[in-house]
Amino acid sequence: MTCFKMLIDGQAAESLSGKTAVIYNPVNQEPVAEVSLGGREDATLALEAAERAFPGWAETSPWERGKLLSRGADLVRERAEEIARLLTMEQGKPLRYARREIVGSAEALDYYAEEGKRNFGEIVPSSSRKARSLVIRQPLGVAAVISPWNYPVDLLAWKLAPALAAGCTVVAKPSSRAPLAANAFAEAVAEAGFPPGVLNLVHGSGREVGRELVESPISRKVSFTGETATGKEIGEKAARFVKRLSLELGGSSPFLVCEDARIGEAAEACMYRAFSNMGQICISVNRIYVHDAVAEEFADELVKKTGTLRIGDGLDPEVDLGPMFSEAQRQKTKDHISDATKKGAEILYGGLEPEGEKYSRGFFFLPTILDKMDHSMRMMREETFGPVAPMMRFSTNQEALKLANDSRYGLAAYVFTEDMTTALRFAERLEAGSVGINLNNPIVPQAPFGGWKESGLSRERSRSALYDYMETKHIRIGLREEI
Ligand code: NAD
Repeated sequence: MTCFKMLIDGQAAESLSGKTAVIYNPVNQEPVAEVSLGGREDATLALEAAERAFPGWAETSPWERGKLLSRGADLVRERAEEIARLLTMEQGKPLRYARREIVGSAEALDYYAEEGKRNFGEIVPSSSRKARSLVIRQPLGVAAVISPWNYPVDLLAWKLAPALAAGCTVVAKPSSRAPLAANAFAEAVAEAGFPPGVLNLVHGSGREVGRELVESPISRKVSFTGETATGKEIGEKAARFVKRLSLELGGSSPFLVCEDARIGEAAEACMYRAFSNMGQICISVNRIYVHDAVAEEFADELVKKTGTLRIGDGLDPEVDLGPMFSEAQRQKTKDHISDATKKGAEILYGGLEPEGEKYSRGFFFLPTILDKMDHSMRMMREETFGPVAPMMRFSTNQEALKLANDSRYGLAAYVFTEDMTTALRFAERLEAGSVGINLNNPIVPQAPFGGWKESGLSRERSRSALYDYMETKHIRIGLREEI
């Protein structure tokens, strides 16, 4: 079986302990490959390599860094098919979505190859004729980058790229549960010719490698995507060193369907955002609020469209939905459904595993639509991270707004309406980092993405992420006598 090695100080590295971990395919629980399993000492080696490499890398110009990032993007695109297949086999998502993830990750490298050149400073008006003030931004040091299993390449790429473009050196830790495609991606990027120690990747558990990356005084920034509970723990530890932090955490995104919405379009958009990647998306639709007057029509459309989705092995090009990532995710989904039905919810579609031999060894589950939901149910308060579309009805827009904001999360929100005033009023009042009006994807490279409330701190993508890997410095220059 192929064993993927770590990347430390410019070399492919086995773990010091010699341990490896086998990664299994969620479609049939068969082994896909193994990885060298690092521990705290391996993380330390990588951090030390990144620390040594930092002064030299920080001195390179954004143009030099940009060239390497663009070359990395080309190398990723050359290996896109191979990396996408690994992603499907370790995570479960259909191959066409896996390809999209890899190509999008190459785009992250290209985007920051250019954006890095736009690190403009400021000349601040001076309060004195005898002094001038400049404000510049400089790379902040070693960045620790920790990512989850649901978009293991994309989420890594949107951290690595701004960090490297800013002039930081990086130690990345992909999820120990889906590390293969991330490993292949990092290898491809590294082949562009980054100096040793600039880009390091260590495999291992959050408890070992993740904690070392957060607790070591060497890392000056931690960029983390994952569960809110883990983010809080990381935040507490990072605070001891006053480390810079980016936290991209859980979500519970509301999807509002107003009385005047185009119902067919809304149902289609809702279906994709609720069920793609089996609902294991941070900006997945988690709570649907539909106006009374259109609720029946919307539910019918949603059920009809969901019935056309094909479930199976993601390597099959006909498939729309693969298995869930793990038995734990599937069990949590079942628990949330059972809690909701006990409290009065009605299942309109799904609610159980699909039948048939081809589903027997994978973590399959039918996309599930529920009606008659209310806020006493766990699904409306916690993140299910499964293929569920729970519906609740409203009669006024004020009521819908109150329900949508009644959450400790604030990552994304969606509104479907044909009225511009309604759309803008909602957009301004929804407590979320991104709002999609009449569409289901509010994430673009050039706009900031991140969460309000317990969904996170700081912003990824756009120029915001570049600046998040930099420290700001004010330089005050004293002038001598007049000329
Ligand atoms: P997780 O928190 O269990 O793990 C995420 C990463 O953190 C993994 O690499 C893990 O090994 C590491 N880790 C775990 N404990 C750690 C610790 N104590 N110290 C340091 N590192 C540690 O999350 P997950 O189950 O992999 O991912 C699913 C979660 O991620 C969901 O809650 C989802 O909403 C969230 N997510 C958020 C976004 C976003 O952009 N806001 C995007 C994708 C996923």
